[in-house]
Amino acid sequence: MESAVNAERLARERNKLHKRLLRQTGQAIADFGMIGEGDRVMVCLSGGKDSYSMLDLLLTLRERSPVKFEIIAVNLDQKQPGFPEHVLPDYLRSIGVPFHIENQDTYSIVTRVIPAGKTMCSLCSRLRRGILYRVASELGATRIALGHHRDDILATFFLNLFYGGKLKSMPPKLVSDDGRHVVIRPLAYVHEEDLVAYSQWREFPIIPCNLCGSQEHLKRREVAEMLRQWDKRHPGRTEHIFSALGSVAPSHLLDRALFDFQSLKPSGTPDPEGDIGFDVDPVFESHAAPAPQAAPVTFLERTRPAAPADAEQAG
Ligand code: SF4
Repeated sequence: MESAVNAERLARERNKLHKRLLRQTGQAIADFGMIGEGDRVMVCLSGGKDSYSMLDLLLTLRERSPVKFEIIAVNLDQKQPGFPEHVLPDYLRSIGVPFHIENQDTYSIVTRVIPAGKTMCSLCSRLRRGILYRVASELGATRIALGHHRDDILATFFLNLFYGGKLKSMPPKLVSDDGRHVVIRPLAYVHEEDLVAYSQWREFPIIPCNLCGSQEHLKRREVAEMLRQWDKRHPGRTEHIFSALGSVAPSHLLDRALFDFQSLKPSGTPDPEGDIGFDVDPVFESHAAPAPQAAPVTFLERTRPAAPADAEQAG
């Protein structure tokens, strides 16, 4: 009896998780115009939980969305020792997704060029990026989808802040540095812990990510730990920070390229919404009644043509 109750609860939780992941992914796609009619999306698969989940969610969204787009999965086999090269092709065949495996021995290049004990990640990712751009062109892909999630975006923001002196993060959509590709991050709104739970439930055949022997970037690990601690001790803090990334006030920062402070003049007209001229403690501001917000619109809703009943109501 107890096990039946537990199984029911687990099924409910999984159903909620799946819905949440689809909603957040659809929302990010809609908010940033990531995918449009006729796009050919190259989904980069590393064999980790994030990229497996991204592929899985995009496949479901494609089924449910009236926007027609193609998906092709791509894995770059970097010839790291022990890489189980059959795992991804077997999986992709089993779910019927067209794919391409690009074999490029970047591992030998990186280990030859970088002295032992130094981190190899920056050269490795530069090489990988160049190869993926070339493959995207060869495959006629109009979008390159990467599996970075909300926590990656937050960690990158703090790494740039602490060590780069820049207020910038990881964009959900960008034009590649060669100017030829649009790169998208459909998991931009998704929490990492949800991806952990989802990949365990779906039993994706995960390939370990430490085959290259490189240490995970120490600073990134420290920042991720700082965010975890904040989440434990100050619930809601990272949510606020993440919302702040989408609510920037250039006139209240110091970047003269973003805001023209030189030509700022009094308008002579009172503006009840205008700046009050003195700093307000953001803690007090956060207790003010929030402005009414429109209900979020999902990718599916936004792209779905209005049903006759909706159209009538609208008219
Ligand atoms: S962890 Fe290994 S595979 Fe990943 S970027 Fe660094 S060197 Fe490359």
